[in-house]
Amino acid sequence: MTEQAKKLVLIGGGHAHMVTLAKLETFVAKGYAVTVIQPSEYHYYSGMGPGMLGGTYRPEDIRFATRRLVEEKGGTFILGKAYRIDPHKQLVFLEESKEEIPYDVLSCNAGSYVPREMIKGESQDIFTAKPIEELLVARKRILELAAAREITVAVVGSGPSSIEIAGNIHQLCQQQGSHMPKIQLFGGRNFMSGRPDKVRKLARTILVGKGIEIIEAGYVQQIERNHLLLENGESYPADVIFPAVGVKPSKIFARSGLPIGPDGGLLVDEFLRSSRYENIFGGGDCIHFVPQPLDKVGVYAVRQNNVLYGNLMASLDGKNPEKFIPGGKYLLIYNLGDGDGILSKWFVTFSGKLAFYIKDRIDRKFIETFQRH
Ligand SMILES: Cc1cc2nc3c(=O)[nH]c(=O)nc-3n(C[C@H](O)[C@H](O)[C@H](O)COP(=O)(O)OP(=O)(O)OC[C@H]3O[C@@H](n4cnc5c(N)ncnc54)[C@H](O)[C@@H]3O)c2cc1C
Repeated sequence: MTEQAKKLVLIGGGHAHMVTLAKLETFVAKGYAVTVIQPSEYHYYSGMGPGMLGGTYRPEDIRFATRRLVEEKGGTFILGKAYRIDPHKQLVFLEESKEEIPYDVLSCNAGSYVPREMIKGESQDIFTAKPIEELLVARKRILELAAAREITVAVVGSGPSSIEIAGNIHQLCQQQGSHMPKIQLFGGRNFMSGRPDKVRKLARTILVGKGIEIIEAGYVQQIERNHLLLENGESYPADVIFPAVGVKPSKIFARSGLPIGPDGGLLVDEFLRSSRYENIFGGGDCIHFVPQPLDKVGVYAVRQNNVLYGNLMASLDGKNPEKFIPGGKYLLIYNLGDGDGILSKWFVTFSGKLAFYIKDRIDRKFIETFQRH
């Protein structure tokens, strides 16, 4: 590799970088140097995260070996967290390291995080829904506690991740034969508000059928070690707590003074390119797509793959980028544990084993496609 080799740097090997990573050798073949920065050697597929918590999948079934793949294909893998970007000097700075990573073209797929503002103090028994690796730690901890006695598990939030986590904790304890925990889902004032009525009804029926209590007395205001406080002043004890409230984009962009959207996501145009810097791209949960705000679902990250790969190559080659078209309505399937699923798209909504079977097939196919590389 020559001194002058153009440098492509990827922040995060997330769902929108799957194709770029799988075809990394095509950059190397053209003489471009590729560096991938990620805080873990693996990237976990979030769609199967709750299933790993419940024991349907092993950790190795749902993750991509990012480091191995990058190194085998001739790239450089840096185990670390990107902290800040200097778009003028074209450098990425890392957290807890003085290393500066230069780039000619940068692509950001650092995902999102669960805000921790409502969590006061430290506790080893509070687990956010992201990063997905947390669910593995939570699984071990629940089994350890539930082996000795009946515990209470609180899941805060009433979106897809919270219902999937609650349902899969039920599956976990049922299958492992430990004491069945009391599972409480704190759903704000109105369980799953904003979701289609039929989906809400089905989710409620399935969760209540498992003995999960849905509490709609108000929003959780504060989470502390072993208890939660609601906005109405009520306090609830809990041994293990999962804040699974909505996610926010990585803070890197706000910290770097880059143009961002209202939620802090990197502002990108129809080419998935920073609205100000032509050599910075992004995909997945960490962007704010100017043409239309996108839901924070893996579906969009996956749809962005080919365009992102093509535009990174075009940018290095000095060619024109291609537009990303988000596409129409997407298929939603929830995994509520014990083989139960809810499927919804257009006017079709149903629950049961078939819904979970379809999700399982789709997810396994996706992961196997990229694990093969
Ligand atoms: C429990 C749960 C279940 C879900 N189920 C589904 C589902 O079934 N279907 C669906 O469509 N969506 C689902 N979602 C939403 C989905 O997780 C997100 O939309 C999806 O993960 C976005 O992909 P991403 O690659 O942008 O982000 P992420 O999956 O968060 O990946 C980001 C990557 O960047 C890395 N990274 C993070 N910070 C840094 C940093 N500072 N520097 C370098 N690297 C960094 C991370 O390690 C990670 O590898 C679920 C979410 C949760 C929490």
